[in-house]
Amino acid sequence: MDRYSEIYRHSVDEPESFWRAEAAAIDWQAPFTRVLDDDAAPLSRWFVGGTTNLCHNAVDRHLATRSSQVALIYVSTETGIERTYTYRDLFDEVNRVAAMLVAEGVGRGDRVLLYLPMVPEALFAMLACTRIGAIHSVVFGGFASSSLATRIDDARPTVILSADAGSRAGRVVPYKPLLDAALELAGHRPSRVVLLDRGLASMTRVDGRDVDWATLRDEHFDARVPCVWLESSEPSYILYTSGTTGIPKGVQRDTGGHAVALVASMRYIFDPAAFDGTVDPVSGRRTFFAASDIGWVVGHCYIVYAPLLCGMASLMYEGLPIRGMDGEADPGIWWSLVARHRVNAMFTAPTAIRVLKKQDPSHLTRHDLSSLDALFLAGEPLDEPTARWIAEGIGKPILDNYWQTETGWPMLSTQRGIDPSMEPRFGSPGKPVVGFRLKLLDEASNAEVGANRKGVLVIEAPLPPGCMSTVWGDDRRFVETYWSLLADRSVYSTFDWGIRDDDGYWFILGRTDDVINVAGHRLGTREIEESISGHAAIAETAVVGVADALKGQVPIAFAIVRDPVSIATPADRLRLEGEVMATVDRSLGALARPARVHFVPTLPKTRSGKMLRRALQAVCEGRDPGDLATIEDPTALEHVRIALGPPFP
Ligand code: ATP
Ligand code: MG
Repeated sequence: MDRYSEIYRHSVDEPESFWRAEAAAIDWQAPFTRVLDDDAAPLSRWFVGGTTNLCHNAVDRHLATRSSQVALIYVSTETGIERTYTYRDLFDEVNRVAAMLVAEGVGRGDRVLLYLPMVPEALFAMLACTRIGAIHSVVFGGFASSSLATRIDDARPTVILSADAGSRAGRVVPYKPLLDAALELAGHRPSRVVLLDRGLASMTRVDGRDVDWATLRDEHFDARVPCVWLESSEPSYILYTSGTTGIPKGVQRDTGGHAVALVASMRYIFDPAAFDGTVDPVSGRRTFFAASDIGWVVGHCYIVYAPLLCGMASLMYEGLPIRGMDGEADPGIWWSLVARHRVNAMFTAPTAIRVLKKQDPSHLTRHDLSSLDALFLAGEPLDEPTARWIAEGIGKPILDNYWQTETGWPMLSTQRGIDPSMEPRFGSPGKPVVGFRLKLLDEASNAEVGANRKGVLVIEAPLPPGCMSTVWGDDRRFVETYWSLLADRSVYSTFDWGIRDDDGYWFILGRTDDVINVAGHRLGTREIEESISGHAAIAETAVVGVADALKGQVPIAFAIVRDPVSIATPADRLRLEGEVMATVDRSLGALARPARVHFVPTLPKTRSGKMLRRALQAVCEGRDPGDLATIEDPTALEHVRIALGPPFP
């Protein structure tokens, strides 16, 4: 058996022995008495009886050896601000916020809602919450008032932390009016709203409720707040899923399992070098750059907790991937940050790479990327042309990895920390990650399928540490939503569809909702999209299944062309549509051929860059697209309507 298979087998066959060893990577105040308590499965608890604290592990414990090492590099190309904080600075800042919260009456188990842009204070506040045992709930900054109100009512925070404004492409996005409107809509009332004034937008303050962040920080400037030791399964945070399918779920994460899993993920997946004592020869440390937002799970895990738990420096970035410090266009901005701050590993979403792909590729080679080991991508399918483009452009391994807000860390990935010779394969996020008992089940019979057969991707209980413990405040919803696929066996459904090849590489074919049923044959939208992206003229595409009287469903494709000249005339459009159909015929067969290929200037996506297929499908079928609070650009659906033409009488 190869090394990966051996360690993976051990992790899933003897989870208690595997995770007992992994747990040694963090500090425990009191040791756990049981590795796994599965008595109330599928509600399982890891490291039972052990007490620990996330903030202690991410900050305090590094003071002895790393107090003057950089912990946080903050870069905002929106405001032109760049700052670095050592572990000592971080400790001071976190204590100030913790003292602020304690003074406002926040205690163990109370919720604190953060509605903040990408500012260092957001990271301080998250750590301050976990320091005092409060549960943070970060809501993506700039979400509409209605989305924010729902989350306020669900989390019922004692205190809300917010700011005057965010900024996007140099445009100020005032947050305070959105927050005020949300508080009008919400039934729950926080006792206090603490407001960070970035000097971007004016704010009207509500007397007795709203207070100024800087004033409180001054009041608590020299404060020291002890860490509150929590039992391992006490919650650390609530985070809502991205809302791509329209129903955000409040994912509750524990404390001990979360810390142990994140350290394991760094060791086996994201930065194995950090664990054999390797430091960057120039910076003398390890530096991780997750170009995400703290409002998403990648931000929680890989901007905030994982790098700090491992004593690395984290680079936190506010801005677009194509704009520089001076506000001028700069598609090389990220690579210049990699060079200047000696970033050793970087993480972002495929959507960001697709943005870069529209720019001159020479920007990829203008900077010294010698410090960088690999680029990690996750969050949505990574099509092969995009993966190849970036791999060739920067000359580094491109490591796709597959997971969900719910799982909290990757389920599928290349695990170079287990076997350095493990190679990625284009189109595949990799192999099952240690601890995850992944299976593919036939959609009709629920029987496990073998290699090269499509199935629903499930995790056999128990979920490894770091995964969601439950839906916040609703155990029943947790069990009913995720665990009701099989009556006789405890399996968690990912609601994704996948396949694995003979060599054990897994592929994600799309969400189970997105599977198209054409005349009794099941097709993943992902497969058709992948095939269409193979046509040289196509930059991006989305395929949805649309109701059809004859065939049940037919695939309809929407595509963005690389060069608008290629569809200048109606004849050009027709020709390209025919070519795209022929491409699909060749790779997947006529059954998968889209009934129509519509060319559009933009596609509807969430603020995190995920394709809103449900909205596309609804518009195609003449239905209401539903809640669009998370949509990036509402005009995208207008373009879709225009492309579809007037409805038939
Ligand atoms: P919601 O659950 O609220 O509808 P969401 O599923 O988009 O939103 P996330 O938890 O952010 O919320 O996303 C997880 C989903 O993203 C996965 O279930 C999968 O469909 C998709 N995904 C994530 N990573 C990958 C990847 N590497 N390849 C393919 N798909 C991926
Ligand atoms: Mg989901």
